[in-house]
Amino acid sequence: MKSYRLYLEHLQLQGEEPALSLTRAWTLVRYFASGLLQLTPCSRCGGHFVAHAHDPQRGFVCGLCQPPSRAGRTRRSSEALAVAG
Ligand SMILES: [Zn+2]
Repeated sequence: MKSYRLYLEHLQLQGEEPALSLTRAWTLVRYFASGLLQLTPCSRCGGHFVAHAHDPQRGFVCGLCQPPSRAGRTRRSSEALAVAG
């Protein structure tokens, strides 16, 4: 259940609807177990977030610390974009 909640937060951070069912959440847990996904620690806030196993681990920054471009959480997101490069 912890992974499911993390996934919901992950989706919300990316501005997507949390449409993941419990069945799919269980599938996600199995992905973790098989090594396809893993929790990557954020280099800024230290939180752990869902990431693909082959994504770079060093210097990972989560959506809270560095919102993705399509998040649209604030009207001034363009400033965040400038920071993110
Ligand atoms: Zn962070």
